[in-house]
Amino acid sequence: MTSFVRALEVVRGQRGVCRRWRGPTPLAVDSYTGARQGKSPARNAVALVVYSKGFFVKSKRILVTGGAGFLGSHLCDRLVAQKHDVICLDNLFTSQKINIQHLLGKSNFEFIRHDVTHPLWLEVDEIYNAACPAAPGHYQFNPIKTMKTSVMGAINVLGMAKRCKAKVLQFSTSEVYGDPEVHPQPESYRGSVNPIGTRACYDEGKRAAETLFFDYHRSNKVNIRVVRIFNTYGPRMHPYDGRVVSNFIRQALAGEDITIFGDGSQTRSFCYCDDLVDVIIAMMNGPDSFVGPVNIGNPGEFTIKQLAEMVLELVGGKGKLVYKPLPSDDPMQRKPDITLAKTKLGWEPKVQLREGLQKTIAYFKSVNMDDFRAPTPNY
Ligand code: NAD
Ligand code: UDP
Repeated sequence: MTSFVRALEVVRGQRGVCRRWRGPTPLAVDSYTGARQGKSPARNAVALVVYSKGFFVKSKRILVTGGAGFLGSHLCDRLVAQKHDVICLDNLFTSQKINIQHLLGKSNFEFIRHDVTHPLWLEVDEIYNAACPAAPGHYQFNPIKTMKTSVMGAINVLGMAKRCKAKVLQFSTSEVYGDPEVHPQPESYRGSVNPIGTRACYDEGKRAAETLFFDYHRSNKVNIRVVRIFNTYGPRMHPYDGRVVSNFIRQALAGEDITIFGDGSQTRSFCYCDDLVDVIIAMMNGPDSFVGPVNIGNPGEFTIKQLAEMVLELVGGKGKLVYKPLPSDDPMQRKPDITLAKTKLGWEPKVQLREGLQKTIAYFKSVNMDDFRAPTPNY
C-alpha cells in the first residue's frame, strides 16, 4: 500500500468491484495486489474505499484497450492516479511502451500485450475500448486488419462486458460523419461515408462497432457508452504517427518543409488530450440512461494552412509550406456540435489551440526521436 492511501474498508454486496463476491468472510486487505490473488479474481475481488485528496473513491478494476497509445496512456495515467486497478492492453502496433514506462512499476497498473481481435478473458468492472490505429496512413496500411480490430475488437469487449456485467465505453470517431454535408456536425447527423473508399476500413469499422454496441445494449442489456471523438492532439502522439499535428511539429522542429495536403483550406477542430480525458471519464461515470453517442471535441475550427502557420510561428521553424495532393475522401470540413456534451455532462474544452500546441511542442522537444520506430512506412 502506498502511503497516500489512508483508509481502507472492505465493502461487500455493493455494485462495483465486489459485486460478484459471495464469500462468507471479509477478505484481508492489507495489500492492494494481495486482495486480488486467489482462485478467481472475480470471486476474490474486494472494493477498496481509498482516501484520496480529501474524499473517498471506490477503486474499480478497469481495462483500457489501446492503453499504450496516445489517448489510452493519458487515460491510464488519470485512472492510476485515481487509485483504480488498471489493466492496459495493447498490441503496440501504433504505440510504444515508452508511453506507459512510468506506470509499469506501480502496484495498481499492469500491461498485457494482446491483440483485441482475439478473445479476452479478464474480470473487470469497466472497459474503455480505445484499441484501433487512428492515423490514416497507418490504418490504411492493412485495411482488413483495421476493420477486424474495430469489429472483432468490439465483439470481444462487448462479450466480456456481458459476462462480467462491466460497463464498456467505445472510442468512436467523427469519421462516422465522413465528409459531412451538415456543419457543424450534431449527433443526429447520419453522415456521408464512402463505403468503398480508402478511409472506409476505419470509418465503416467504427460505424459497425457503434452498431454492435447498441445491439448488445438493446439485446443483452450491456451497459454501454459511445463517444465520437473529433481530432485530438497532445504529448505522446507518436512522432511518426502521420497525423497533421504530429507531422507539422516534427517537420518544423527538424527545420523541414511543412507538407500541406491539398490547398490547406480543409478544416479541422482540435481538442487537447487533457480535455478529452476529463469528459471520457465523466461519460463513463455518468448516468446509465445516457449512453450517447456524444460528440467530444473542441469547436474551434481552423484551416490546415492556419494550423501550419501557427506551428511554424511557435517553433520558429525555417521550413516553408509545400503542397501535396489531397488524399482521397479527405473530409473538407469538420467541427463538432457539442451541445449534448455541455448539457448532459456539463463539459466543454478549456485548452485553446495555441496553448495546447505549446505543450505538445515542448513534449516533442523533450523526446529523443531515435527512440521511436515508425509503425508503417506511411507517415
Ligand atoms: P493511437 O494509435 O496512439 O492509439 C491506438 C492504440 O491501439 C495503439 O496503442 C495501438 O497499438 C493499439 N492497437 C491498434 N490495434 C490494436 C489491436 N488489434 N489490438 C490491441 N491494440 C491495438 O491513437 P489514439 O489517437 O490514441 O486513438 C485511440 C482511440 O481513439 C482509437 O480507437 C481512435 O480511433 C480513437 N480516436 C482518436 C482520435 C484522435 O484524434 N486522437 C479521434 C477519433 C477517435
Ligand atoms: N494533413 C496535411 N499534412 C500532413 C498530414 C495531414 O495537410 O502532413 C491534412 C490531411 O489531409 C487532413 C488534415 O490534415 O486534411 C487532418 O489529417 P489527420 O490525418 O490528422 O486527421 P483526419 O484526416 O483523420 O482528420
